[in-house]
Amino acid sequence: MSHEKILIVEDEEDVLELVRYNLEKDGYLTDCATTGRAGLGKSKTGVPDLVLLDLMLPEIDGLEVCRLIKADPETAAIPVIMLTAKGTEADIVTGLEMGADDYITKPFSPRVLLARVKAVLRRHDVPDQTDTTPLRIHDIEIDPGRHRVLVRGKQVKLTSTEFNLLRFLAARPGWVFTRYQIVDAIHGNDYPVTDRSIDVQVVGLRRKLGTAGKYIETVRGVGYRFEEA
Ligand code: CA
Repeated sequence: MSHEKILIVEDEEDVLELVRYNLEKDGYLTDCATTGRAGLGKSKTGVPDLVLLDLMLPEIDGLEVCRLIKADPETAAIPVIMLTAKGTEADIVTGLEMGADDYITKPFSPRVLLARVKAVLRRHDVPDQTDTTPLRIHDIEIDPGRHRVLVRGKQVKLTSTEFNLLRFLAARPGWVFTRYQIVDAIHGNDYPVTDRSIDVQVVGLRRKLGTAGKYIETVRGVGYRFEEA
């Protein structure tokens, strides 16, 4: 049984109850708030391990709550999962760029909710970019020391930007990154990296990876994600 505490910020009572019931059944402690202001207060005083944050909230909306949580050094490290409606990709992108860790689109099943919560809590140890230990995921091996990629034991020749792009995404399977976040992280030095050129890079990288290219998933309207093993 885990005893991590999840703060749920949601103004719709039925959604709030459903989320709380399922989290508690799974062994989590919960704390609840029904306005942005109350949620912000409890993110400081309640010391939650994770915040589930609805974006459509009275008083202060969810994006502003997310921004304030991430701007305050006291709460910046608390992972945030946004609860969003369908068709709000622009808000999702904004939230991710403000530092939200993931999002769940309503309506969602308890199974999806618990899986996302578990994944975000588990992966919150951010991998170290200076670590040169080879990374193995699915049938891909990425060796940062030798700047080498093997797919099922066979070497694949990548450009420096493609290598950095693959390494960045594969080191954080399951995370969704916006194009801007990817550009910011990889600083291509053999190619001018812009948000549009990321799409071109991904197409080239997928082609070179062959069947392993499918692990780089396009998240429509949001960005890219590497499939979890
Ligand atoms: Ca709402």
